[in-house]
Amino acid sequence: MRLILLGAPGSGKGTLGAMIERAYGFPRISTGDLLRRAVREGTPLGRQAEGIMARGGLVPDEVVTAIVRERIAEPDCRAGYILDGYPRTIAQAEALAVIDGGRREIVLSFEVSVESLVERLSGRIVCPACGAIYHLTRKPPAKPDLCDVCGAALQARKDDAAEIVRERIRVYESATAPLKAFYRERSDFRPVDGEGAADEVFVRTAALLDGELRRAEGGPVR
Ligand code: AMP
Repeated sequence: MRLILLGAPGSGKGTLGAMIERAYGFPRISTGDLLRRAVREGTPLGRQAEGIMARGGLVPDEVVTAIVRERIAEPDCRAGYILDGYPRTIAQAEALAVIDGGRREIVLSFEVSVESLVERLSGRIVCPACGAIYHLTRKPPAKPDLCDVCGAALQARKDDAAEIVRERIRVYESATAPLKAFYRERSDFRPVDGEGAADEVFVRTAALLDGELRRAEGGPVR
């Protein structure tokens, strides 16, 4: 089983992905988190990705695919995994089918208006240490600017600046949105109404997933 979370920046993939991970026990793999860690650690990959990410562009397909290939080979992914932010292009989707083909695949596409995306991203603060996601008004941390989970100081992501958000949404529309048609033809593609509070979206998502996983019982699940 693999779950692919599709959606524009700010559509809730990270927040919902973490909730699904907790509830269903599949590990969440966020290419954005893995790349940000590489940037923080100053690895060769991080140095290659840093400028591209700061501008809101896409890191080359073969680079992110190599990261995903390595991560999904780990034993905790054997029974299934959640992909958050990958694939982001048709070429990545085709590569994924090659590096880990034959798996049951459910694609959840979080549908959110552009106004909501901009509102969410402009108030988003994140934990650089553990990746937890907050919002200044929608989901403030218990203590101002400190992560509820690990206590680290929260920050806004540099690429959540207004002009970079516009570019990221443009890149999403041109490179990633075509994946919806791609997966509608090939996989179990399920649009999810992503508007509203995370808890509400999770209830809708879990209802969908429960149905899909029940349907999969007895099917070719690994
Ligand atoms: P995210 O945390 O998913 O919003 O990703 C942050 C940034 O990391 C993106 O704007 C891209 O620059 C880069 N990135 C993450 N995932 C991918 C991917 N699958 N392909 C290319 N670039 C990616």
